[in-house]
Amino acid sequence: MPQTWFECIRCGRKYPISEVKYRCESCGGLLDVEHDVDALKSRSGAEWKDLFARRSRMSKWPYQSGVWAKKEWVAPQIDDENIVSLGEGYTPLLRVKDLASLPEVWVKECGISHTGSFKDLGMTVLVSHVKQLISDGTQIRAVACASTGDTSAALAAYAAAARIPAIIFLPRGKISTAQLAQPIAHGAIVLGLETDFDGCMKIVQEITEDKSIYLANSMNALRIEGQKTVGIEIVQQLGWEVPDWIVIPAGNLGNISALGRGLTMMHELGLIDRLPRIVAAQAENANPLYQSFLTNFDEQRTVMARTTLASAIQIGSPVSYERAVKALRAFDGIVEQASEDELANAAALADRAGLYACPQTGVALAVLEKLVARGTIKRSDRVVVISTAHGLKFTDFKVDYHQKALSGVVSRYANPPVYLPADIDTVRKRIDAELA
Ligand SMILES: *Cc1c(COP(=O)(O)O)cnc(C)c1O
Ligand SMILES: [Zn+2]
Repeated sequence: MPQTWFECIRCGRKYPISEVKYRCESCGGLLDVEHDVDALKSRSGAEWKDLFARRSRMSKWPYQSGVWAKKEWVAPQIDDENIVSLGEGYTPLLRVKDLASLPEVWVKECGISHTGSFKDLGMTVLVSHVKQLISDGTQIRAVACASTGDTSAALAAYAAAARIPAIIFLPRGKISTAQLAQPIAHGAIVLGLETDFDGCMKIVQEITEDKSIYLANSMNALRIEGQKTVGIEIVQQLGWEVPDWIVIPAGNLGNISALGRGLTMMHELGLIDRLPRIVAAQAENANPLYQSFLTNFDEQRTVMARTTLASAIQIGSPVSYERAVKALRAFDGIVEQASEDELANAAALADRAGLYACPQTGVALAVLEKLVARGTIKRSDRVVVISTAHGLKFTDFKVDYHQKALSGVVSRYANPPVYLPADIDTVRKRIDAELA
């Protein structure tokens, strides 16, 4: 029996991990990577914890990465010399006092990473897998993705590190300047299309029907395997204690599925004895999962995604919908949404507590605040919010908020700069007035 393989999430058909395949040939379902869990049970839960804890103190290749420290659970098929790592994972888990109407909130800072978002976690696995395929003789000319900004930044960086060409499809004018600069700097072929993310996603799926152009979007199960380490890392950082809730911004729905898979694996392998509840946070302007949740997931709703400040989750037809529903059912999940006004003010309030929240993290914090107000989440509950990207990628959002220039947003915490003549008395008076 192989250690790991692709398996259709609908009909269960299996495929070798070395095949270039994104959907099931029989039924068109998405594939998951599955592992020989019985073989992994040769170590007890306590032994796995001990091994992971020891590796977290090592600088030995490839365990200096939070993803590769869990290699047996993630991608054992890849030889160490084919691993392409930029030091992903092991991001801070911060305890923040008095946030979102709670005495304390834990914030998993996935944006403190090489390209500034959690996408690095999945991309290290995908690009390493491609490098392995190439070294095993598979003809791959390039890797390609559609992106709302962060996927392309990560793919371009890892592909550059691996010296593999990257092709990036972006919805023209719908991503931040920082996110556009990243793939350009890494030498990717950057194609700005006159469409939205969903339109780019269609094109990339057609382009990658040519097997020599490898699809790097999160419908590719290898991405999910890397991203699933986030939940494992959170529990490890909490001293192997399971939080009551994990709140996560959700767009194309790969990450929420990944979170579920990592935690499920910990449960199966005896590292934890209970599961947290998961909250998927969506922007009201792009809320297909929320709409589906309202019908108890009876059917998949898609929407025409409207413009949202949370541009990384401006997605109307999420690819990993079925995977996400599976996770939400298994984790007694909730989906809630936040308006532009709510997400922007929640991000600003977090910044006042010393964070530097991206708009997507603003969505998660605003949703958390709602659920606390509603009594769904108790003040005594331990809550982790997944911060998905670094605020520095969203400078226009910050500046416009504080200039009160965001439409549909009342900037309740605006703090515009004060311009004064270089006169000591005027300056003194103003400081006294500000501190009064
Ligand atoms: C990609 C992304 C998301 C959404 O993740 P999905 O897997 O698409 O649901 C959220 N926030 C940021 C910053 C992202 O880059
Ligand atoms: Zn199938």
